Amino acid sequence: MRLGLFGGTFNPIHVGHLRAAVEVREAFNLDKLLLIPSANPPHKSADQVVDAEDRLKMVRLAIKGVPSFEVSDVELARHGPSYTIETLRYFQDQYDLGSEIHFIVGQDAFSEITTWKSYKALFSTAHFIVMTRPGSKLSSIEHFIHTHISEAYQYDPVLKRYTHPEWCTVFCVDITHIDVSASEIRDRIRHGRHIRFLVPDTVEAFIVEKGLYS
Ligand code: ATP
Repeated sequence: MRLGLFGGTFNPIHVGHLRAAVEVREAFNLDKLLLIPSANPPHKSADQVVDAEDRLKMVRLAIKGVPSFEVSDVELARHGPSYTIETLRYFQDQYDLGSEIHFIVGQDAFSEITTWKSYKALFSTAHFIVMTRPGSKLSSIEHFIHTHISEAYQYDPVLKRYTHPEWCTVFCVDITHIDVSASEIRDRIRHGRHIRFLVPDTVEAFIVEKGLYS
């Protein structure tokens, strides 16, 4: 089983997340892609983030009918801050040893990984897929990996991946970056502007029905 785990606040989920997930699943031939809303994101202030149950529901609506996509509520079941290391260990226990677990993350989030709990341990727990923008400088990722993660990572330019003698692999993949963010969407709603086509119609209807972000 080739598994992809895509974590995020998804406050709300939008077309940038969804298109990225589709492209990564295709590029890495993943059997299953799990979207994992963070219950209590350690790095986002709580007043900006709507209820985790609502964010989970929006993810569920967004991926309804998309083959191989599923949503996981594992972080909602835990108390306290939602740490990725705990989520990765959970999935490591759930799946057999032959499974390959890939954690999917945007380059912006990856560049802040040193602030995540036990961040070095993440790299011995799951492979990483770092989503880059076409034309973005891979040399800055290389410098970051060598400075903050391990000097033993070696770049393979053909396969665009960093391999390590003991730890998991860090893959880089160019995706179509749709320049939209959840904060911009929340901002639009607050100012009474349309969010049509920035989120799936079903998600937009849910936001309106619940009066979220206004
Ligand atoms: P906010 O604007 O509230 O900070 P966000 O839109 O960046 O939110 P998150 O839920 O924080 O969304 O991001 C989850 C993951 O999705 C991160 O790994 C992030 O890098 C990635 N991501 C966010 N926006 C995009 C986008 N437009 N295209 C591709 N990946 C994205």
